[in-house]
Amino acid sequence: MNKETEKIKCLIIGSGPAGYTAAIYAARANLRPVVYKGLEPGGQLTSTTEIDNFPGYPNGVTGFEIMKDFEKQAQRFNTDIRDGSVTSVNFLVRPFEITVNNEKNIFADTVIIATGASARWLGLKSEQEYKGAGVSACATCDGFFYKGKDVAVIGGGDTAAEDATYLAKLCNKVYLIHRRDKLRASISMQNKIFNTPNIEVLWDYIPKEILGKKEGFIKSVNSVLLTNVKTGKEKKINIDGFFVAVGHKPNSDIFKNKIDLDEKGYIITAPDSTKTNIKGIFAAGDIQDPVFRQAVTSAGSGCMAAIEAEKYLSSIK
Ligand code: FAD
Ligand code: NAP
Repeated sequence: MNKETEKIKCLIIGSGPAGYTAAIYAARANLRPVVYKGLEPGGQLTSTTEIDNFPGYPNGVTGFEIMKDFEKQAQRFNTDIRDGSVTSVNFLVRPFEITVNNEKNIFADTVIIATGASARWLGLKSEQEYKGAGVSACATCDGFFYKGKDVAVIGGGDTAAEDATYLAKLCNKVYLIHRRDKLRASISMQNKIFNTPNIEVLWDYIPKEILGKKEGFIKSVNSVLLTNVKTGKEKKINIDGFFVAVGHKPNSDIFKNKIDLDEKGYIITAPDSTKTNIKGIFAAGDIQDPVFRQAVTSAGSGCMAAIEAEKYLSSIK
């Protein structure tokens, strides 16, 4: 069967803060960008409620609203925003060949990859049930809602340690629940944990179930049932918030062996740049950022990617 084909100047893969910001800049530079939204239109922020730390929204904004605003702004400059997911790429040919939904081939002079990263979850049924209603994977985003309350952080890496330390400044008590008897976090982060009086580490525990109450559509967490991996004994602790910090997974599976990735699957970009190892391919946002992973930093690198893409196109004219 013949695939439909199309030639464009600039393809943007992903519709989160990085993708839409890249689109705004690329469209204003007359690159006539095409954005493919993927399976999560608007990106990770659409999975949360209040965003209080994105500049320009003095009263906060919901994740859905802010991403609608990003989309509208990209549309205002005639970005071609489409449903669909990129299913494979061929970066060995020029223009680059990108397949969408396994059925359409796009040939693009330049590509901006903004496919983001997804938080890893534990896989508990109750975790899904209370997501956004007591269960979160972003302490800096949602910690504020647990001011003065008791919360749990799951994980033993730097993110968990950083989240626990951050939450300890807001919350009454933070339980750091780790599946081993040794933290993976750096020594300096560990020292912070051990020197913060309202953090208690619960060693060798894994969450079995998150418990809460449901009143109509309103749900809230009130405790978590833990299992000790050494003794098998169970323990229940009362908490209002449950923060999962067991790592992030960049959405880079389709780019494996096509572009340089680090050992965790993040796309490697040059320092102070969004350039990848392939000339003409740029990466922005969480897909190339294992450290900050914030909406505003993603938007910033989306802007950088569009500016670099425009310079690249001028250089090959
Ligand atoms: P993402 O937002 O992850 O978007 C990736 C996009 O790529 C999606 O549209 C997806 O559909 C698309 N995509 C993926 N694969 C494909 C494909 N193959 N083809 C086409 N499209 C594809 N940050 C803050 O600054 N403040 C907050 O309050 C905040 N709250 C958060 C709450 C939660 C629950 C979570 C999970 C994160 C939160 N963050 C917050 C972090 C923030 O959401 C991310 O840093 C930001 O969304 C990253 O933007 P991005 O554009 O790089 O990627
Ligand atoms: P990480 O280092 O991969 O740690 C993930 C943690 O989650 C580990 O402690 C792991 O336990 C635990 N875990 C994984 N799956 C689990 C499960 N199913 N149940 C219970 N626990 C589970 O991830 P990260 O902490 O997000 O850090 C990622 C990278 O970013 C690291 O390189 C880190 O150094 C870096 N980082 C740096 C900073 C900083 O410098 N300030 C801050 C944040 C992140 P085990 O230990 O038993 O494997």
